[in-house]
Amino acid sequence: MLTRRQFLQKCALTIAASYGGYWRLPSTASAAGALIPVPVYHRVGEGTGDLTIAGGRLAEDLRILADNAYLTLTVGQLKEHLHAGRPLPEKAVFLTFDDGYLDNYAAAFPLLASYGMTASFFVITSLLGQPGRMTASQIMEMSAAGMYIGSHTVSHRPLATLAKWEATLELQISKACLEDLLGKEVGAVAYPCGSYNDDTLAAAREAGYWAGFTVRRGWADTAADPLAMNRLPIFRNGRRLAAHLS
Ligand SMILES: [Zn+2]
Repeated sequence: MLTRRQFLQKCALTIAASYGGYWRLPSTASAAGALIPVPVYHRVGEGTGDLTIAGGRLAEDLRILADNAYLTLTVGQLKEHLHAGRPLPEKAVFLTFDDGYLDNYAAAFPLLASYGMTASFFVITSLLGQPGRMTASQIMEMSAAGMYIGSHTVSHRPLATLAKWEATLELQISKACLEDLLGKEVGAVAYPCGSYNDDTLAAAREAGYWAGFTVRRGWADTAADPLAMNRLPIFRNGRRLAAHLS
């Protein structure tokens, strides 16, 4: 069990160690793109806010995906497609959850596991272990079980409202913290509130991210900029996943 204090100490060491800065260029995206539905969920449970859907509705969405032979893509499959042009399954879906709420661990994770599905969880590193949010130990458990943990930045400030240097720090520090915690590359980011601009994309690229998710509504086109992929926001009072897929 990693305490929050231990986690923050690890983060501080990682950030200090990485401050020489290293810059990686992304691989060239494949010209042979595909369209992929990328639903984004937030909370799963009993709340009544628009970001919260009932557990039964998530179960229904997963059942629809299973009944219609959709395969949940891993980040590895997405990366191999984007970077090496490896074809995707005919019916592929990339499931995402933003904000790192505790119910993602308590409700969504076991449901996904029961269907043998995988998903990506984009967490706000400064909120790990805070009330109502997942802990460092919980995301480590999910990562070990085949779920992907990506960055939703350090503080969840909308990146397009920040100076480029501030956005860069948000992207670099959250990436370094998660990589140190999980022992895995963290190359995907979901922009808080879907906020991004050209500086954001440049900062993400320079920080070493190869995938960026917005909340611009639509299927993700893998022939377009992989740092600005569309998603399908799923809200309590919004369109059902099945309607997005038909
Ligand atoms: Zn968010």
